[in-house]
Amino acid sequence: MAVMTRPLLNRRLAAFGTTIFAEMSALALRTGAINLGQGFPDTDGPEQIREAAVRALRDGRGNQYPPGPGVPELREAVAEHQLKHYGLTYDPDTEVLVTVGATEAIAASLLALLEPGDEVIALEPYYDSYAACIAMAGGTRVPVTLRPHDGAFRLDLDELRAEVTDRTRLILLNTPHNPTGTVLSRAELTVIAELAQERNLLVVTDEVYEHLVFDGAEHLPIASLPGMRERTVTIGSAGKTFSFTGWKVGWITATPELTAAVRSAKQFLTYVASGPFQYAVAEALRLPDTYFDDLRADLLARRDLLSDGLAGAGFTVYRPAGTYFVTADIRPLGTSDGIAFCRALPERAGVVAIPNAVFYDHREAGAPFVRFAFCKRTAVLQEAVERLGRLTR
Ligand SMILES: *Cc1c(COP(=O)(O)O)cnc(C)c1O
Repeated sequence: MAVMTRPLLNRRLAAFGTTIFAEMSALALRTGAINLGQGFPDTDGPEQIREAAVRALRDGRGNQYPPGPGVPELREAVAEHQLKHYGLTYDPDTEVLVTVGATEAIAASLLALLEPGDEVIALEPYYDSYAACIAMAGGTRVPVTLRPHDGAFRLDLDELRAEVTDRTRLILLNTPHNPTGTVLSRAELTVIAELAQERNLLVVTDEVYEHLVFDGAEHLPIASLPGMRERTVTIGSAGKTFSFTGWKVGWITATPELTAAVRSAKQFLTYVASGPFQYAVAEALRLPDTYFDDLRADLLARRDLLSDGLAGAGFTVYRPAGTYFVTADIRPLGTSDGIAFCRALPERAGVVAIPNAVFYDHREAGAPFVRFAFCKRTAVLQEAVERLGRLTR
């Protein structure tokens, strides 16, 4: 058959295979292990917001194709949210675009803004869709590695500067950062902002964990720094903030020119989705501050439960300043191969984790690190900690 004379999957995607999450979730299912691999909460978000979705569905709001840029109620709520939390002003009509989760926002931004051959600087370890989307857009990814330093994974700003070339088109940021839990500081963001302006780069910034910050860490959108609003696409999502990851409602905020560019790609990916959920998320974004405070306090307790448990089980723990993931170093347990460790962990201890190495181009830099999600019920985390304690007992 002629079709078989060359590989079916094109060269841009062939390197990616299936995601580690599929492999590890299958392993969890087969072994009955507790799945702290994939990052989704095991309880749903606020009842009031679920009811808002039901109401929209019953009232016939959003059951047919919503407007391409998203329903006006949600675009207004996103603009209000950016103003209230960060003092950023965006016009709901021309500067907000609703997307199918942050995932589509990332894909559409890269497909719209990159020419083949453009270089994209991404913080390594990186969220798995970044590499695939850069590849689909024909771009070249240039990873800058976050390295452990004083109990956190930090960006080397000189290294970042050194990686910018005449082919660099954009810097792809993620703060708070998955998987390391690092929250970029004002000082770090200021240097990145200066570099972007000096070298005329765009910034696409994935801020889906914006509300999940701990210990006084402050989430600062780079778009709020001087000179950055006009060159930044900011990405948000309801999934992580409101514990409705299945709804896939995300958005970008950016200048009219950038928003129009991203919309050009987005309209041919999905056009629109999640009609009734868009109305519910509009309501969620307007929840009082107590919702966001309670979310943080609740996750902080779980972070500490899991972090303390991992430390007790012998891991070196990088207690995160943001996100709902904790990265641990397995070397004190006598091995430095995180991939082999995670493949064996369900049988050994009945827990699933993700090896950070899969989020690196420089695999050796990520080899000894593994990621656990703590967005799970307290009883589940307690049981996981109890099981992990058996590793050294
Ligand atoms: C979960 C996640 C996403 C995807 O968000 P969706 O809204 O579910 O598409 C994007 N970026 C990061 C860093 C994530 O952890």
